[in-house]
Amino acid sequence: MLTPKTTKTTTATGEHLEHERLISLVNSMADAVIAVDQQAKIVMYNGAALNIFDVNTIKIGSALDRLLKPVDKNNQEVNIVEMVQSAVVPITNRDLRLGYADGSFINLYLSIAPVHLGYGEKGQRGYVLLLRDITREKSLEEERDEFISVVSHELRTPIAISEGNISNAEFIAEKSGDMTAIKAALKEAHNQVLFLADMINDLSTLSRAERGVLKVEVEPINVHDLVTELANNYSVQAKAKDLEFKTELDPKLELLQSSKLYVREILQNFITNAIKYTAKGTVTLHATADPKGVRFAVTDTGIGIGKGDQQKVFDKFFRSEDYRTRQANGTGLGLYVTMKLTRLIHAEIELKSELNKGSTFTIFIPNLD
Ligand code: ADP
Repeated sequence: MLTPKTTKTTTATGEHLEHERLISLVNSMADAVIAVDQQAKIVMYNGAALNIFDVNTIKIGSALDRLLKPVDKNNQEVNIVEMVQSAVVPITNRDLRLGYADGSFINLYLSIAPVHLGYGEKGQRGYVLLLRDITREKSLEEERDEFISVVSHELRTPIAISEGNISNAEFIAEKSGDMTAIKAALKEAHNQVLFLADMINDLSTLSRAERGVLKVEVEPINVHDLVTELANNYSVQAKAKDLEFKTELDPKLELLQSSKLYVREILQNFITNAIKYTAKGTVTLHATADPKGVRFAVTDTGIGIGKGDQQKVFDKFFRSEDYRTRQANGTGLGLYVTMKLTRLIHAEIELKSELNKGSTFTIFIPNLD
């Protein structure tokens, strides 16, 4: 590691002081700094270099490629000495990975700059390498790319269907004026626009949740009114798929103290899914009184969720591989957002499901102060 100079040749105190300052500056850097000579042998390193290589000490004069053995994006070993020696101007690379003895990897940012070593005393040439662990940044970048690709794909489908139906309606209006066919096409376009609105709503809640700016505004909720409102809104969608939408209300229900906005959004997500993933039968919304709050449950007689998938449905972007799931539009964000909101209002979700029989999503919502 860099240590203060103790040679007697240092005459000027000013120079000595400056040297010490420089050493403490380089040693306090969070990034690993390594200086190598023209043969890529290590001349100097700072404290952070020990961390990145996970070693206690680095032998001065040892070959760089004994210490640093990165691989590229395709897991191919990189000839680091060649890479360093080819740096006639400063170069940077963000696509390297560095492995450890325990099998773990980090993503590495590496910059190489050709320099004069020896503070101009001998004028010896060499290279300074700066290394940084960018694993977290990389995973955020990958997540963002995945997000954009999933969302743009999912937005494209309903837009294409609405566009097709609207131009079809126009065509029929010009040619035959068949009102039934025009209405059917417009209805489908309308459904797709409603779906888009739901999805954009999910996205905006998600973005607010991720930024941590969601506030909980507690107000008295008349559960009876909320359930009636949801039943009115969703019976139409259920009927369009020939499903029955039922409600079961506990007569002992009292006012619930929570966020009406979030409770409604959570239940909407459960109900939309129940309708989406059920081909025939019933979707039921239950509300049961509890001394500490209200227990809601949404039960369907749909495709169900396999045991292996039940843990994953609340993960970001998770969608079951089941072809029946893939037939329906979806981003895999609804339940992820639902879980974020659930935590905000200190609620608890329980999922019971059986493949090909149906699912029940239960949520206990406590009274908040
Ligand atoms: P999306 O419905 O947009 O795919 P969600 O986050 O709402 O995303 O749901 C994640 C996944 O959980 C769905 O893709 C589906 O595989 C499964 N799922 C959720 N609700 C149900 C349900 N009621 N019945 C069957 N599968 C469901």
